[in-house]
Amino acid sequence: MQTDAARRCSSCYGSGEIGTESGPADCPDCGGSGQLPSPDTLIEWRARDIERAYASRGDATTMDVRWLIAELRRARGALTEIVALAQDASDGDPITMRIRGIASNALGYLETTAQVPSA
Ligand SMILES: [Zn+2]
Repeated sequence: MQTDAARRCSSCYGSGEIGTESGPADCPDCGGSGQLPSPDTLIEWRARDIERAYASRGDATTMDVRWLIAELRRARGALTEIVALAQDASDGDPITMRIRGIASNALGYLETTAQVPSA
């Protein structure tokens, strides 16, 4: 998982506030916490923004976007299960650690406790 330093919001430099014409306000990117949410949360927020942007169109592209986002969620769910299973099964086996590392990288997690051994 990511460290606090890696998750620090670059929009507000970790302060949680941004300057506006009417004074300081909560940073819209981190919600005022100064820390960015997990990659899962950021991707889900982006997917919802895209769904919302296309929802009113109701054309073939909207159906394609819905299908693609459903596939994205299904694939990320499977990768999350693979990471969890590899973590449960890991007893230092290099193949299990490599599977976990590959799935973690695909999900956008930074591995700080397990290194991905080279093939
Ligand atoms: Zn921020």
